[in-house]
Amino acid sequence: MPRPIQAIIHTAALQQNLGCLKAATPHARVWAVVKANAYGHGIERVFEAFRGADGFALLDLAEAERVRALGWRGPILLLEGVFEPRDLELCSRLQLWHVVHHEAQIDWLSRHKTQQPHRVFLKLNSGMNRLGFSPTRFRSAWARLDALPQVDEISLMTHFSDADGERGIAHQYQRFAELTRDLPGERSLSNSAASFRYGEDEAVSADWVRPGIALYGGSPDYPAHTPAHWGLQAAMSLRSRIIGRQSLNAGDTVGYGSTFTATAPMTLGIVACGYADGYPRSAAQGTPVLVQGQRVPLVGRVSMDMLAVDLTALVQTDPLLGVGAEVTLWGHASSGELLNVDEVAQHAGTIAYELMCALAPRVPVQADGVTGAGA
Ligand SMILES: *Cc1c(COP(=O)(O)O)cnc(C)c1O
Repeated sequence: MPRPIQAIIHTAALQQNLGCLKAATPHARVWAVVKANAYGHGIERVFEAFRGADGFALLDLAEAERVRALGWRGPILLLEGVFEPRDLELCSRLQLWHVVHHEAQIDWLSRHKTQQPHRVFLKLNSGMNRLGFSPTRFRSAWARLDALPQVDEISLMTHFSDADGERGIAHQYQRFAELTRDLPGERSLSNSAASFRYGEDEAVSADWVRPGIALYGGSPDYPAHTPAHWGLQAAMSLRSRIIGRQSLNAGDTVGYGSTFTATAPMTLGIVACGYADGYPRSAAQGTPVLVQGQRVPLVGRVSMDMLAVDLTALVQTDPLLGVGAEVTLWGHASSGELLNVDEVAQHAGTIAYELMCALAPRVPVQADGVTGAGA
């Protein structure tokens, strides 16, 4: 028998989350953001569920090739644009749209030989200070692109730093709106958080929204709101089993570094899941875990292949609970109970995005929906 850990991708949830996003931004077209191998879910596994999107947005040229190989003929957007001049050849060949966010990308385009002019998304740095032209350079970049025979349509984009938080988007939205007021072209501004929190404003959802996390069932603004608040369903469940049981006396310790000491007799379950599976080592004492669908706390340090949970309360009613019991690290137990990945992430001092993306290659993944041709 293989080691019992497994990730399950819930295809119906992916589909429902896309529908939810569309309902929040009814006037916009939707880029399904599938960077980082679809946030750890697997591009090939999510593809059918996201067929109803208007395009796929990602970073990696190899991922763009995978989406084309699946038969997608619609738009694909490279969110970081090209990394070197010859990437433009692949853009021409696969008809990839690409973000332009620095001057050298315009130089490369001006020297690129192509029969087919490219669709580009010119990116404004409206305050995030990550990628994009500064407000003082943006319009001259637009004029340069507009003069190139290699460029067909120019769309305008920016990215919000605080769509999920208190600061909000107004300051960045103002800057974008002022600078682009008289420029033609489609607009794209909103990630998941902006789509849900500000999506009813048609100027913010604009022509294209770019949701990622929400499609996978993570809350775009946890802990302010849970996924359920936005109608989102967990698309990934990480499950394993208990492979050992220990009885402790007061004074006994647990795991590396003996960071936990029992104050009374207790029963531990040892779970086949560790940081080499993608479970965060930073998960604190007390991080919730589901055993047979019931919440129990993590105890001691997470090690590479295992972690320990406190079964003391559960064995009161089920004395035989132990090896073989189902454990859900996040997502749905097979009996349906839910543990939000956002909550686990919070206990580990991180966000759901990081846990999803960190799912390790050694974890077998299975899609629970019917996928593939004819489905
Ligand atoms: C990753 C990314 C998104 C998606 O963000 P979520 O918070 O996951 O919705 C949107 N736009 C850009 C430019 C991105 O890099």
